[in-house]
Amino acid sequence: MTIENAIELGLAGVILYCRKCHREGAVSFDALALPRATPVPEIARARRLVCSGCGGRSVASLPDWAAYTAPGAGQE
Ligand SMILES: [Zn+2]
Repeated sequence: MTIENAIELGLAGVILYCRKCHREGAVSFDALALPRATPVPEIARARRLVCSGCGGRSVASLPDWAAYTAPGAGQE
């Protein structure tokens, strides 16, 4: 999945997760300012993100499904 795909699906951003200290946080695609062809799993590497908690570089980026609502979901 690329950022483009994720936006088309209605996602607004990703969850960044530190594999070392398990810190995590949500960040929007707007804030990342990456090319839309960037694969979502490559976001942390593309931005050379480091964990704000432990300074580790083993940061994973996952689609932020928590903020996702399917079109029409929950509506009659
Ligand atoms: Zn960390």
